[in-house]
Amino acid sequence: MAIHWFPFFKLEKCAHCGKCISACPHHLLFQKQDDNDPNLFVPKITDPQLCPVNCSKCAGSCAYGVIGIIRPAKPCDCCSF
Ligand code: SF4
Ligand code: SF4
Repeated sequence: MAIHWFPFFKLEKCAHCGKCISACPHHLLFQKQDDNDPNLFVPKITDPQLCPVNCSKCAGSCAYGVIGIIRPAKPCDCCSF
């Protein structure tokens, strides 16, 4: 089963500083034109499946709380497989 670990973005809070893009050690983030203002950019991820588990460098680099990480769900206590 694939492990889900990747960032999500609350882009309405983005200050367009670009720090998250340069912070990604795997170069998975790039600049995408903002839907609301073509003169600004927001981050977008190329392939979330390439994020290594436990990486959160992009989230840590953002001073505006834009980026969160989707983490694996806690296993169900009643399942034994
Ligand atoms: S979680 Fe890590 S690998 Fe994935 S986009 Fe953020 S910094 Fe890059
Ligand atoms: S670091 Fe945060 S504020 Fe700066 S571009 Fe990335 S998401 Fe936007």
